[in-house]
Formats: sequence, C-alpha cells, structure tokens
Amino acid sequence: MKLLIVEDEIRLADTLGQIMREQKYTVDLVYDGESGLDYALMESYDVIILDVMLPKINGFEVVKRLRQAKNATPVLLLTARDETRDKIEGLDYGADDYMTKPFVPEELLARVRALSRRQGEVILNELCFEDLVLKLDTYTLHGKNKSIRLGFKEFEILKLLMSNPGMVFPKESILTKVWGSESDAEDNNVEAYISFLRKKFNYLGSIVTIGTVRKVGYHLEGLHDS
Ligand code: CA
Repeated sequence: MKLLIVEDEIRLADTLGQIMREQKYTVDLVYDGESGLDYALMESYDVIILDVMLPKINGFEVVKRLRQAKNATPVLLLTARDETRDKIEGLDYGADDYMTKPFVPEELLARVRALSRRQGEVILNELCFEDLVLKLDTYTLHGKNKSIRLGFKEFEILKLLMSNPGMVFPKESILTKVWGSESDAEDNNVEAYISFLRKKFNYLGSIVTIGTVRKVGYHLEGLHDS
C-alpha cells in the first residue's frame, strides 16, 4: 500500500512516515501543498494524509484541485483547528475523513486502513431508493437534476441505510458498522452525520428523508411511507 503524507511540521511528518513504514506501507513525504498536489497527481496512492495549514497551497485547496482533476484518491485531512466549520468545509471539497491534531497513532492507522479498504470494495455499482441513486464507485449521490459528492462517513452511513431501506438502524449498529467496534465515537457523531446527509437530500431536492424512530434509530423514508 502506498501513502502520500503532506505535512509541513517536519517532526510530525517524520513521525507519521515512521509509523506508516513500520506498517510496511510505502510512503512519500512532502512538506508543502504545491508539492503535495504535484505528487498526488503524478503518482497513484491508496490514501493521502493531508494537513490543512500548509505553505503555498492549503489542504482544502489541494483536495479541491484533486477532485477537479477527477482524482478520487481517498484523502484524510489533518486539522489543528477543532472547529466544525473547517471540517465541513474540508468534507465539502471532497475530503473523505478528518482527524484533529493531536491524535493517537492507532486511530490514524485504523482510519487509513478503513479508507484504503474503500477502494477495492466496489461490487455493486449503485444503490437506488425512490429518486436517489448512490454511486458506489464515485461516492456521489444523485437526485433528479443534481448530484453531490459525499464524505467517507456520510457515504458509509447512507450505503448502510440504502442497503436495506425498510429497516430501522439503531445508532449503536451504525457506530459499529461505520466507525468500528473499537472506536470511541459516540451517538452524537452519528447524529451529526445524519444531519449532514439530511442537508444534502435537501440540496438535491429529494423526496427521501431520514426518519428518526425515537429511542430506536434511523431509517429512510420515501413518499409512500409517510
Ligand atoms: Ca501545518
């Protein structure tokens, strides 16, 4: 597996490189956004670990340009700023996941593994429910007239809901399936991503909604359910 790490704090960059090489990953390490973008466009990586605050071109801009160039390599953003607004901005530009610094290496490794698995996972091409189509190879959600790219967690949650639209998924089962049983993510993480998804359904003008069954969980609702 081949990783690109873009991080301008040299000590952190070197530590990350070391951690990844211990896992037998092949690592390219660069220290500014411009080089990061060049490497990402020239080489084929399984995952890109990308700092947000970078010299020359910031991380958000790197992701944006990568996606504009139709490059779908999974991107994990590293952000020092624990502000939801920044995270959402990153995900809107097409990043797949983010971590707030400082973080523990085990969690970083778990997320890198999850992101890399995503690439080889495409068996079905799409899932459909009412007027929504979720494309599993491009991680885009299509409504009647518009489409939007989903972040990694949004995609995983929606894939779960769309794989069995009639079923109510408890928060705990969403946590286990999307974050993994060893994660310390909590119910409010699920709630946050459900609300991102609802906003995207709205943006697409879809008739589909995510219904809440009190104290039980979430399920998809179409026109004929309500
Ligand atoms: Ca930085």
